[in-house]
Amino acid sequence: MDGFVVDNLRGIFLMSLLCSVAAAISRKVFHINITRQLSVFENILESVKSGKGVTLEQARALLAVLDNNPDAMLDLLALARLTVSRFAASGAATAAAPASAIAAAPAPFTCGIINAKSGRCAENCSFCAQSRYHATASPVYPLVDDEVLLERARLLAENGVDYMGIVISGTGPSDKDFERICAAAQRIIGETGIKLCASLGILGMEQAVALKQAGFTSYHHNLETSRSFYPEICGTHGVEIREQTVANARVAGLRVCSGGIFGLGESWEQRLEMAETLRELNVDSIPVNFLNPIPGTPLENAATLPPREALMVIALFRLMHPGRDIVICGGRGKVLGDWDKLIFSAGANGMMVGDYLTTKGSPFERDLAMLEELGVRSRDVAGFRGVSAQAGIGDANA
Ligand code: SF4
Repeated sequence: MDGFVVDNLRGIFLMSLLCSVAAAISRKVFHINITRQLSVFENILESVKSGKGVTLEQARALLAVLDNNPDAMLDLLALARLTVSRFAASGAATAAAPASAIAAAPAPFTCGIINAKSGRCAENCSFCAQSRYHATASPVYPLVDDEVLLERARLLAENGVDYMGIVISGTGPSDKDFERICAAAQRIIGETGIKLCASLGILGMEQAVALKQAGFTSYHHNLETSRSFYPEICGTHGVEIREQTVANARVAGLRVCSGGIFGLGESWEQRLEMAETLRELNVDSIPVNFLNPIPGTPLENAATLPPREALMVIALFRLMHPGRDIVICGGRGKVLGDWDKLIFSAGANGMMVGDYLTTKGSPFERDLAMLEELGVRSRDVAGFRGVSAQAGIGDANA
């Protein structure tokens, strides 16, 4: 054999040895990754089965797995869905059912809103079309007449919507607007039977009690984002005053609906931080909004969240808040498009239907048809009413 052939054989041998070593290393790395992934999921499954919310550390470990393995998304959705069913079985978040108990998830509840007073807000939230600091095309008008409120309530009730949110722009309600809203509430409830939610901004204790007495079921007030990121999105007031409003509503006996907007530029760590604060505040319901960048606001050029990330937000919040309502609100269509059919697989149990505050939502027809198509809620309007009051996750919690 001449030297040329020997050299080549040696080269081939070395190459194949290197390939074997590389394959072994990659098998080992794969094995380590899969083992680590399994242990993260097993650990979380135990928390879900025991009725506990996922801890901050578990949530971080889950995010690391999802970062390395896009396929793990399906496992995340399965865990989120299991969490919803697990709590449907328990009937009450305070008394965990046996670990084996799994039930069909209850029908999701629906909310509709009316933008009852729009624009000219003295605050400067960077995402908001209604701030007077931003030049947007958002409508500007004072508090609408009672008849307009009533007409909206009828439309929502006829479409089987569970809650109507009366939303006004501004730091907080004027005395005059507040009195009018309380008086209108009694008439709306009497004539339509719809459950009312108020979203009037910063609220004192006395006002919270007055809303409860006027017949409101819920108070909605978002934290918007985490404590550490809040100064980046609002310079005219701090997050503490928002937290105090949430606490006031809770003490007054209102069902508290408080969450935030995702896609403002916050990090995953800050999303988890907000989830922890909501745990501290013991809220009943968490609205999940996705930024829909509004022309004229400082965030007009922000990129919208990719659908996968939006679904991850829903699932993570479900796992961290197993016994609370997770309701998907603004930005659903903009961010998720037709992927919004997956919100319930990701752990949501409520959805805002119809238009949002200053942007168009999807029409009732499309939303109701989607719920029926998914088999999660009957189109029989009479059957809609009160379903979530009996079986909703958060309601069982309240
Ligand atoms: S989010 Fe509320 S407080 Fe902030 S600018 Fe808009 S209306 Fe005002």
